[in-house]
Amino acid sequence: MSSSSSQLTTTGQGADRAPAGGGHRPGRDLPLLVLGAGSDSRSERGVSCPGELPAPSDPSLVRRAALARAELGDRAFVLGHHYQRDEVIRFADVTGDSFKLAREAAARPGAEYVVFCGVHFMAESADILTSPDQQVILPDLAAGCSMADMATYSQVEECWENLEDVGLAGTVIPVTYMNSSADIKAFTGRHGGTVCTSSNAKRALTWALAKGTKVLFLPDQHLGRNTAVLELGMNTADCVVWDPRKPGGGLDPEELRRATMILWRGHCSVHGRFVAGNVTEVRRRIGGVNVIVHPECVYEVVTAADLVGSTEKIISTIERAPAGSAWAVGTELNLVQRLAQTHQDKTIVFLDKTVCYCSTMNRIDLPHLVWAMESLAAGQVVNRITVDTQTAAEARAALDQMLALP
Ligand code: SF4
Repeated sequence: MSSSSSQLTTTGQGADRAPAGGGHRPGRDLPLLVLGAGSDSRSERGVSCPGELPAPSDPSLVRRAALARAELGDRAFVLGHHYQRDEVIRFADVTGDSFKLAREAAARPGAEYVVFCGVHFMAESADILTSPDQQVILPDLAAGCSMADMATYSQVEECWENLEDVGLAGTVIPVTYMNSSADIKAFTGRHGGTVCTSSNAKRALTWALAKGTKVLFLPDQHLGRNTAVLELGMNTADCVVWDPRKPGGGLDPEELRRATMILWRGHCSVHGRFVAGNVTEVRRRIGGVNVIVHPECVYEVVTAADLVGSTEKIISTIERAPAGSAWAVGTELNLVQRLAQTHQDKTIVFLDKTVCYCSTMNRIDLPHLVWAMESLAAGQVVNRITVDTQTAAEARAALDQMLALP
């Protein structure tokens, strides 16, 4: 079937470069758009949906989704991240964390369309890892990631230039978390670094510190600090935080020389909300409760918890836990609610009393999924995510290095 194409989203370093001769001002390009309003090619967020969405109240939405899914058949493969809504997850062919989903997509070369129910950086990774004739679709372009937006290409280049100026760049290995744009993964690949996930961050840092003497860790300072201190035995004093909004990152050359970990000042707006007081409060409220949190939480929360682990580890730990056990979980609320629903023989509560969904993950709802799948079934490719060839090749080098980690 021939298909028309619309709303191509391209990614490339050029979109984030300063005008010739204009130089860079620290922090000038941190996006502050309201979700769904306007567009900013440097940001993952703030891009409105171009199509005619069905009304959320349409009683035929589930039937329409099932019909469109059946019509697409093997030509489409639908991926659902663990933080997606139930109404979306029910139509996913496979669920998982970001890296598992990108690999699942790559393992389905026969699927013409990969419909990624997740956020923008995940769809980019899927595009990098799939073949050129596969098309990756993000049902709502406004599904970005605030953490990924906290490290833009020009900011990271500026940081690296600063490290060169103080004579340290040759000793620094960049390591970027999977939750980063393709531009940042490409930067990492170009400078001999690696990508990591929350599952293999310890191995990635061990590899990087055997290759260099310092690590520039992007963009989540908390995963970097928690891994360095709790898994590699460093002190918090071995870590400094590079603030892209301040000249020189807010650090003097001596602080940079003394540091082993140069942590980017980025965080997850969902996991960053948990505080140590949540752990104290839930222990008081539920006797014998086990507290398990994601390593994107702040150091004080991670050290107060009983267990820390990636999304996949949280799921497998709770699956294996004995009936009757009690768990307070510090991660995204859609997942915690689904765990509680699935394991009704255990007490499973959200670590915070305040509702804490990932607002950008929640952008993908049933109306967007129906619109995307019906459009594809009608031969119209919508919301395709593409990464330009050079960026993809350099990002692929960093991803391949991650796969080759000892
Ligand atoms: S949960 Fe945090 S890291 Fe994940 S997509 Fe949402 S903002 Fe980004």
